[in-house]
Amino acid sequence: MLRAAKFLILAAVLLALAWWVGSLPGNVTAHAGPYTIATSTPAALLLIFLITLLFTILLRVLGGIRHAPGSFSAWRGGRRAKLGDIATQRGLVALAAGDATAARAEAGRAKKLLGETPLVLLLTAEAARLAGQTDEAAAAFQRLTQQKEMRYLGHRGLLRASLAAHDSTVAQKHALAAEEAYPGATWTRARRLELALREKDYTAALALTHEPAEVAALATAASYTTPNPHRALDYAKQAMKADPTLAPAIVALADALNGRQKPRAARKALLAGWKTTPHPLIAAAWFAPEATPLERAQDAAILAAANPGHAESELLLAQTALAANLPGEAKRHAEAALAAGATDGRAQSILDQLAGKPAIPSRLVWVCDSCHHAQAEWAAICPGCTAAGTMRWKAPGTALV
Ligand SMILES: [Zn+2]
Repeated sequence: MLRAAKFLILAAVLLALAWWVGSLPGNVTAHAGPYTIATSTPAALLLIFLITLLFTILLRVLGGIRHAPGSFSAWRGGRRAKLGDIATQRGLVALAAGDATAARAEAGRAKKLLGETPLVLLLTAEAARLAGQTDEAAAAFQRLTQQKEMRYLGHRGLLRASLAAHDSTVAQKHALAAEEAYPGATWTRARRLELALREKDYTAALALTHEPAEVAALATAASYTTPNPHRALDYAKQAMKADPTLAPAIVALADALNGRQKPRAARKALLAGWKTTPHPLIAAAWFAPEATPLERAQDAAILAAANPGHAESELLLAQTALAANLPGEAKRHAEAALAAGATDGRAQSILDQLAGKPAIPSRLVWVCDSCHHAQAEWAAICPGCTAAGTMRWKAPGTALV
């Protein structure tokens, strides 16, 4: 409606202008050498208008011809960039789809069209990695580390490759470079932890995790590896804070207290530990190394009193009574242990020994929750899968004891 109104107003103005020009009186005469042109004023004005229009069109055409090569190359460049972008996008999709051949083909096309832009480098590197071309991928990731905005991705790719190749020295280098390029990244932190665990660097690993089971296990191990008794106690306390029920951590605390010449505090820590988590490791740390079997049987009663009636307490009393040649006591406590739920064969083994049968070795071992690796000794880091804090004391293939 508005456009129609505008058109009508414009038409009216033009008509009025034409009518005004047409009605102008007088003549125009021009002399050029021997020629004389005489015409009416409206015709002369129309002629001037037409000549101006013609000149304008001519100048436009000439300008267009002069700029033609530039415009063509700009058009061509734009088209190349567009095709390069499409190739990059298709390459990324192929990567996500796990199609290495297509990803590499699109990476090559994008490189031809766009040159080695950071995004093309990344696509080239990831496509080569997917295709198993590790050298080609490493070279592209290396070039990516020279790109200011994308260097994290370059170091990330190289760190991943060196971890896969079990080259810890190179992995360490790229882990630090990646951390510097993008501080605080969760991915880098996880890889650095993986590296520290692989190298059994307990203190470095400890600084990279907040997961209680991992902290408890790593701090326990760190308390044994540090040569400083003060630090050993700090680590043991850190482990106990993270998981007060971890038997090796309870023993580590007692050992660290003994290391600081605090035997009374050490015994107190073991008693407290037995109360929450009775475990043979705690019992082993409880007895004085030079104690006689009878002294051990008497000492066991003190520890067992911290958690009376518990299957582990009864087992401890039965085992020490058996060793001290107190068969009556041994039988009574072994039967009490069985009644309290010690069905893993240890109580039965004591009763069998009392009946003159050979002892059956305990089936209980430390089993990794993650990979089911089993071994007699506790370990902060599973030797099977290098996970931290995954070892549980149980019979293989059974629930947690
Ligand atoms: Zn494992």
